[in-house]
Amino acid sequence: MKNFYFNIALPLPIRKTFQYSYSEKIKKGSRVFVPFGSRKLVGIVIEEVKEDKSIETKNIIALLDNLPSFSSKAFECIIWASKYYHHPIGEVFHSFLPNHLRKNNLHKDYAVSNNDYSIIGEKPKLTDEQNNALKIYKNSSDFKVNVINGVTGSGKTEIYLRIIEKNLEEDKSTLLLVPEINLIPQLIKVFSERFGGNIGVYHSKQTPIQKYKTWQASANGNIKIIIGTRSSVMLPFKKIGSIIVDEEHDESYKQNEGFRYSARDLAIKRAQVENVPIILGSATPSITTIDNIAKNKFIELVLKKRFDGSNPPKILLYDSNKTKINNGISEELLELIKETIAQGKQVLIFNNRRGYAPFYQCLECDWIASCNSCETNLVYHEDLKRLVCHRCESKYGIPDNCPSCSKSSLNISGVGTQRIEKYLQEEVKEAQIFRIDYDTTRKKDAIDDLITEINKDKAAILIGTQMLSKGHDFPNVALSIILNIDTLINNPDFNTAEKLSQLMVQVSGRVGRSRNIKDGKVIIQTRYPNDKNLLNLRDGNYMKVAKGIINDRKNLNQPPYTASAIILATSPKKESNIAYLNEARQYFDNLKLETIYGPMPSQVSKLKGRYKHLIYIQFSSRSQLHKEINKFLLISEKWSTLKKVKAMIDIDPNNFY
Ligand SMILES: [Zn+2]
Ligand SMILES: [Zn+2]
Repeated sequence: MKNFYFNIALPLPIRKTFQYSYSEKIKKGSRVFVPFGSRKLVGIVIEEVKEDKSIETKNIIALLDNLPSFSSKAFECIIWASKYYHHPIGEVFHSFLPNHLRKNNLHKDYAVSNNDYSIIGEKPKLTDEQNNALKIYKNSSDFKVNVINGVTGSGKTEIYLRIIEKNLEEDKSTLLLVPEINLIPQLIKVFSERFGGNIGVYHSKQTPIQKYKTWQASANGNIKIIIGTRSSVMLPFKKIGSIIVDEEHDESYKQNEGFRYSARDLAIKRAQVENVPIILGSATPSITTIDNIAKNKFIELVLKKRFDGSNPPKILLYDSNKTKINNGISEELLELIKETIAQGKQVLIFNNRRGYAPFYQCLECDWIASCNSCETNLVYHEDLKRLVCHRCESKYGIPDNCPSCSKSSLNISGVGTQRIEKYLQEEVKEAQIFRIDYDTTRKKDAIDDLITEINKDKAAILIGTQMLSKGHDFPNVALSIILNIDTLINNPDFNTAEKLSQLMVQVSGRVGRSRNIKDGKVIIQTRYPNDKNLLNLRDGNYMKVAKGIINDRKNLNQPPYTASAIILATSPKKESNIAYLNEARQYFDNLKLETIYGPMPSQVSKLKGRYKHLIYIQFSSRSQLHKEINKFLLISEKWSTLKKVKAMIDIDPNNFY
């Protein structure tokens, strides 16, 4: 009997494929069940090959797919991603399979309750800007990257709806990527008010069967609108019309563990391979995207005006140098909060630290409470009367005396959301207070319940972290106060200016969208009221800030003008990380590159007992990066220092994680 031979990718941290045989031909992208040592694994067929007689070839136990789980287009993207991100191919394929298909399960068909996507809702009249943007989008149905650069409230979502409508008319599907699961419910609501059929969702909090149902319904074309987070970028589609990436600037599109990839960049690759248009939407496009617009690689569609004709809020910088500050808020601003509440309106307070106080420390010596397994400061939580590690969520009791000098001079310092909440409960008794942070939104649906309650239009104070800046609108907020950004202004991280600017514009955009609020105000409390970026943001000029950042990066030879990579090592011992990374550093030093930093601790320097260190490398071009990283991976494989660490590569890193 004739046998066929295949290279199979297995879910292992190994940069190679393995040869197996089978009695029939198998299409690439199909799942197979194979023996591996004493285990049995689900692998993906990469290619048919001639028998290699120099190695022992085992038989495939079972072919699991009738049709390949990965279409030829998705297959092509994943092969590309594995090379681009220098990650073991089997792990890359595995990361895009829903759990159900990671096991030796066969495919099943599930019925979809409603796949009639007729329009059931009313379509609003478009503004000239929206019409214009759609006209440019509709110019061609081939691959091109359209960037909707639209202020918050300019009606980006309506454009998404029209694009979906066009795709449906042509019997094609639309994939909408969002950075956070939290943003999905409100989009489902808007989409199902417009279209009759089911809206598919795909994200990590679904059960394996829910995820698989979406996968299957998308593959056979029963569901034509899908909203998902990162990993939905490689879903199968019967016929895809276009991909939309909402809030494209959001850092959450970057996966920072395991297979490290940018879902936005992979979405662009997917659209290119499928030859369909892609839409990147944001009120604050990323620096990379703005640079690509300047280079005419991306097309910019600008929406400057708010859809409902309301005015954007006025932004003011409040100099906190000469004023008395209680619990993080200056006295004058407290008065403003009271006035706004007295008028029956809402106040939003943004403070990017949860808990009560971020530090618990000794005033006599320099002892500061920190987590035993993460080397990070512990945060005091008033409700728990405990110190909490925000990395691993370990909880600690509160010592009465300093563990270092034994004196009873321990104290909290710094301001978290709980502390502001408690302070304002005492100072502004008549206001209802909502706190929106990780601690109050952990439960399923908690954030939606909070937002429904808040949007009932009554005087209230909302206090929250970054979560507030992401996609949710609070139309009744008349005054928004941004606290505690000074530490960010001084942060040495290489893209802090970009992140800070996006954050401020996003927070401002949440304010005053209701018709009743004519004079929405955003106040930034800072000790640096003359900072040039803050001044530009005050004048509503994000693009000016962005262009300044692009210029700085050009002058400093930073990405996107160079190509960067991080080599990471984790292990239970600092010394093992340093030994491996020193050897890596020496290797790259010989290449005479302009910029190498490290070895240094990662921003998350220790997590659950494992230390994490890194070196950061900049190459003059992307082709140099790929060539040199490939060489490095081959050579470093044999190093004895590698045996004691888990090493990873991060291409186009966002931060020093
Ligand atoms: Zn002490
Ligand atoms: Zn910890």
